[in-house]
Amino acid sequence: MANIKEVTIIGSGPAGYTAAIYSARANLKPTLVSGLQPGGQLTITTDVENYPGYENPIQGPWLMEQMQKQAKLVGTEILNTQVTKVELNDSIKKIFLDDGSIIETKTAIISTGAQARWLGLENEEKFKGHGLSACATCDGFFFKDRKVAVIGGGNSAAEEALFLTKFASEVFLIHRRDQLRAEKILQDRLINNSKIKFIWNTKVSKFIGDQDLQSIELYHLDKNENSNLDLDGVFIAIGHDPATKLFEGQIDMDSEGYIITKPDSTETSLEGVYAAGDVKDKVYRQAITAAGMGCMAALEVEKFLS
Ligand code: NAP
Repeated sequence: MANIKEVTIIGSGPAGYTAAIYSARANLKPTLVSGLQPGGQLTITTDVENYPGYENPIQGPWLMEQMQKQAKLVGTEILNTQVTKVELNDSIKKIFLDDGSIIETKTAIISTGAQARWLGLENEEKFKGHGLSACATCDGFFFKDRKVAVIGGGNSAAEEALFLTKFASEVFLIHRRDQLRAEKILQDRLINNSKIKFIWNTKVSKFIGDQDLQSIELYHLDKNENSNLDLDGVFIAIGHDPATKLFEGQIDMDSEGYIITKPDSTETSLEGVYAAGDVKDKVYRQAITAAGMGCMAALEVEKFLS
């Protein structure tokens, strides 16, 4: 039994590190497998102004580095590698790593997160953090009295557009069809907001600018023609994909691949397996809510093991 871990955490965003901090402090000697992008989505943002505890803006990568250091200091073993396969059904679970080793563990916390979908256009990488974002809650504040656009037609696009009207002077909602997928109540709010301008049947075909994004080229599908729109910011809201491929067929998920947990709990359909953060949350998707769920998962693991 010597090498069987009490708890293994998969993923290194705010949920994973918080689960690690709490379980280390409960003397469970956690192992955390950090994955391909240690620190998760926050490592690709810049200023963070909504994480409590910091008077002045902090940098996303810095925040994740601090969480990692804190997790390590309190006793987490951090493995900078990737999980290639899992077997979570039995009481002793197996987690296979890409160096060929296998972790055996009594409990597992899945905090592999989710990733915003991007359009896949040329220059997209270059403008991320320079006028291009996939999170209005994170970056909207920087567009006070500026002209911005939101791409998408679902609930996220509607909510992001409405949120942005608090700061921006104009918000273009650009959708590839002539009908939104967003709930009726959100559609009504959009229509009744004078800052929102709809651009229907349209796709973005190019991002244009030197250092920062300055304009976008639009392709109007109905007219089969292009136009240019000068803007200060573009928010892509075409959905997220949870990182749950590894767990398919083993854990209950919803139709979009998010892990299902029991009400007011991080317990999954498998005994001893917990899920925290964006991998199970398609509504809030904030660092602070993910961290909160990581804490819940660690406390539930502690209770389960005792
Ligand atoms: P979504 O509902 O899948 O909507 C994605 C939108 O992006 C759709 O309008 C889609 O267009 C468009 N789109 C997809 N790929 C595109 C592309 N390559 N180019 C241009 N447009 C593209 O995603 P979501 O809005 O992120 O919502 C995800 C889930 O979370 C949904 O179940 C949603 O209800 C839920 N959610 C709930 C709340 C809430 O309850 N308050 C808030 C946010 C999200 P088409 O319409 O043409 O397919």
